[in-house]
Amino acid sequence: MTEKFDIIVVGAGVLGVAAAYHLQKSSPNKSILLVDSQPEAGQANTAMSAAAVRNMFSSTTNQLLTDSSIAFYRHIQEGLGFDLTMHMCGYLWLLSAGQFKAPSVKMWMQRMEKSDIHYQVYEQEELQKLIPGMTTKFSDDDEEAQLMNLNNIDYALFGSECGVLDPDLLVKFYKQEFIKLSKVKPRFSLPVTSLLLEAKPSLGLPGEPYVWQDKRVTGVRTPKGDIHAETVVLAVGPWTNSLLDPVGISSFVKAKKRQLFIIPASNHPPLEQLLFTKGFSKAGFLPFTILPSAGVYVRAVPEEKSFWIGCADKVGRAYKYVMEEQDYKAERSYFEESMYPVLSKYFPAFQNVRPVNSFAGSYCYSFDALPFVYEQAGVIVATGASGSGIMKADAIARMADALYRGEKETELYGGQKMPTTALTISDRQVEVERVII
Ligand SMILES: Cc1cc2nc3c(=O)[nH]c(=O)nc-3n(C[C@H](O)[C@H](O)[C@H](O)COP(=O)(O)OP(=O)(O)OC[C@H]3O[C@@H](n4cnc5c(N)ncnc54)[C@H](O)[C@@H]3O)c2cc1C
Repeated sequence: MTEKFDIIVVGAGVLGVAAAYHLQKSSPNKSILLVDSQPEAGQANTAMSAAAVRNMFSSTTNQLLTDSSIAFYRHIQEGLGFDLTMHMCGYLWLLSAGQFKAPSVKMWMQRMEKSDIHYQVYEQEELQKLIPGMTTKFSDDDEEAQLMNLNNIDYALFGSECGVLDPDLLVKFYKQEFIKLSKVKPRFSLPVTSLLLEAKPSLGLPGEPYVWQDKRVTGVRTPKGDIHAETVVLAVGPWTNSLLDPVGISSFVKAKKRQLFIIPASNHPPLEQLLFTKGFSKAGFLPFTILPSAGVYVRAVPEEKSFWIGCADKVGRAYKYVMEEQDYKAERSYFEESMYPVLSKYFPAFQNVRPVNSFAGSYCYSFDALPFVYEQAGVIVATGASGSGIMKADAIARMADALYRGEKETELYGGQKMPTTALTISDRQVEVERVII
C-alpha cells in the first residue's frame, strides 16, 4: 500500500525544519512528513555555516527577512529560554575611503536608515584605539600590500543588531517543536531520488501525463518506495536542480563552494586579546569582521576560544549546477595562498599560526541574491538563500507556509507583512542585493 500525507517536506536543513514547524503550527490537522538523505537534521550546509546573523542588507526585502528572523531567534533564546548561544556581537564592515564613498555604499546606508536599521560609522582613529592590533594603514613602500591590492581601513560600518548563533541549536529548536506538534515522525537517511509527476485527473492510460493534461507533483520516489502527498515542499538548497530539472521546473539557482578555517586563540596572548576585543558591544568580543579586501572575514568564537576565518571569493571560484562531494572538502592551499597572506597583513597576530580544522559547504545563489519561495505544479520550492539562509530561515519558512495556505500576505515575526508572491519567480518584487559576503 502506498503511503500518503498532506505535505512532504524534502530537506531538513534550517529552511526545511523551519518550514515543517511553521506549516504544522498553522495547519495542526495536516499530516506532514519531513525527510532528509542525511542521518540527522541540519547536517549539510546548515552545519557548515559561520552562522552569523545580520540585518545590514542593501535590499529592503533582505532587511525585512533578516530583521524579523533575528527578532524571532532572540525570542527563542530570551523569551522561550531555549539557548541558541546567540550573542549580539555586531557586524563590523571595514572600508577604505573609496569604498565608503562609493554610490553603492551610500545607497546601502540610505536604505538602512529608511528601514530603521541601526548602524554606526567608525573612523580610522577610533578603530585603531578599539583594535590596537589591526593594521589600518599600509605604508607607501609596502610592496606586499600593493601586490595584494590591500585597501587601507579608513572607516567601518558597525551594526549592533547583528550577531552569531549556533546553527545546530537553531535546527534542534525547530525540529523539536515540529515533533511536538506532528503526528508523523521525520525520516532520515532517506534520499528522495525523484519527484512523482502525474496527470490530474489521470485517465489511467499508458504514457501519461500528456502535454494537454494538467500535471502535478504527487509525491516522491525513495529507495524504500513511493510516498504520496497533496503538496511537496522542496528545501534541498544546492541540490534543488537535481530534483526539479527532471520534471521540467526551473529553479534558477546555482551553487558555489565556501570554506571556513579554524584557528585556536588559546595560549596565544595576541590572538586572545584580539578575540576578546571590548568596546563594540556588551558581548565583549570581536564583532563579525569583514576585511576591506579580498572578501576575507573573521568570526570570533569565544566558547571555543578560536577564530573561524572565511572568504567570499567571487570571480575565480567556479559555480556548480549542483553541489558535489568535493565541495565538502576544504582546501588547505586556499587558506595558505589566498586567505592567510591577507589576514596576517591586517592582523599580524595571525602570523605563523595555522588552522587546526576546516570545513566546507556551498552557498546556493539565486540571480539577485534573494531567496526563492514559489509554487509550481504542486511543489513549493524554498531555495536560493544565497549564503544567508540561517539569518533569514524563519521568514522564508513563514513565506512557504503562507503560500501553502493561499495567503496573499505573509505576516513575519514582529508583525511586518510582505506580499506572499514577493519571492516567487513570476511576480518577484525585490531589489537586487548588493551586500553579499
Ligand atoms: C562556509 C559557509 C558559511 C556560511 N555562513 C553563513 C552565515 O554566516 N550566515 C548565514 O545566514 N548563512 C551562512 N551560510 C549559508 C547557510 O549555511 C545556508 O544558506 C543555509 O544553511 C541553507 O539552508 P538550507 O536548508 O537551504 O540548505 P542545507 O542545510 O544544505 O539543507 C538541505 C538539506 O536537503 C537535504 N537533501 C538534499 N537533497 C536531498 C534529497 N534528494 N533527498 C533528501 N534530502 C535531500 C540535504 O541532506 C540537506 O540536509 C554559510 C554557508 C557556508 C557553506
